[in-house]
Amino acid sequence: MSELPIRDELRGVEPYGAPQLDVPVCLNVNENPFPPSEQLVADAARAVADAVRGLNRYPDREATTLRERLAGYLERESGVTLETGQVWAANGSNEIMLQILQAFGGPGRTALSFAPTYSMYPEYARDTSTAWVTARRDDDFGIDEDTALKAVAEHQPTVVFVASPNNPTGTAVPLGLVSALHDATDGVVVIDEAYAEFRRDGVPSAIGLLATHPRLIVTRTMSKAFAFAGARLGYAAASRQIVDVLRVVRLPYHLSAVTQAVAVVALEHAAELQERVAQLRDERDALARWLREQGLRAAESDANFVLFGRFEDRHAVWQALLDHGVLIRETGPDGWLRVSVGTPEETTAFKVALADVLKEQR
Ligand SMILES: *Cc1c(COP(=O)(O)O)cnc(C)c1O
Repeated sequence: MSELPIRDELRGVEPYGAPQLDVPVCLNVNENPFPPSEQLVADAARAVADAVRGLNRYPDREATTLRERLAGYLERESGVTLETGQVWAANGSNEIMLQILQAFGGPGRTALSFAPTYSMYPEYARDTSTAWVTARRDDDFGIDEDTALKAVAEHQPTVVFVASPNNPTGTAVPLGLVSALHDATDGVVVIDEAYAEFRRDGVPSAIGLLATHPRLIVTRTMSKAFAFAGARLGYAAASRQIVDVLRVVRLPYHLSAVTQAVAVVALEHAAELQERVAQLRDERDALARWLREQGLRAAESDANFVLFGRFEDRHAVWQALLDHGVLIRETGPDGWLRVSVGTPEETTAFKVALADVLKEQR
């Protein structure tokens, strides 16, 4: 058989993703450890039944009800009023990133980000034939404004990605930096706020800048704080013009009627999540403190995970934890590991396992 005519940049490439292993304690992909409430389950079941009764028809291509509800949620969460036409939704915020690159990237164009950061961005750049460049974050994983503006001037990106709070470091950037980046580029600036609900008090969301920054896109997701990763629902807030461009590149009827229905139900239950999110934030702070008490470094985090280290051989530590039934993530700069905040029981299991592993190592 002759060789398949695969694009050169895809030849020999393995599908990327965190290992999905069957382990007692999974703290590797920053999920919310608390499942949806039984009330939400019951309401979603009814909404799904209704949606299924209409599955002979295509879904609402514009997902209007859902986008209205998302705008309402953002208003309650961030105090910013948005029109429905300024909100966009897709199958996870990852699909939104891809749509942004389909619309604003492409051959001969460049996307810029700040490393270490989310490992999926370069994949979407590759898939859309967009050149991918990174500038470095500083030693405490913040972004130095001079470095950022120099990178913009040098690379002339049409898309700039800043995850804030950043994955895998947990670092949020100040709004001054977002504003400076926006004003320094003719491209779109994407602030990926997948973990926004976990930010500490006083850390603002970039949603508040939308009115004055026309090329700003803020992406959010229901995968983390909302405890809805399996539903695949991400969304973006931006100018109406930007949303209209994303509507051009989306696949027809990209959001199934079932997805739209369950997402609307989850939004109706948003208030009950807040307590859980507050608990996870407290657990995160306690976990970071505990890691430091063990003589380790733990990065400041505004997300639901902590990056910690440094280890001479991080893979050995990761593997030893796995042998203790605890799966975390081997990611970030060399020597560091990332652990998601779990239930109190899961966090305890992690601490017991890590204490053991550290003892064995000493
Ligand atoms: C988890 C995560 C997302 C969410 O992706 P979904 O496709 O919405 O599940 C987005 N950005 C970052 C940086 C993440 O870590």
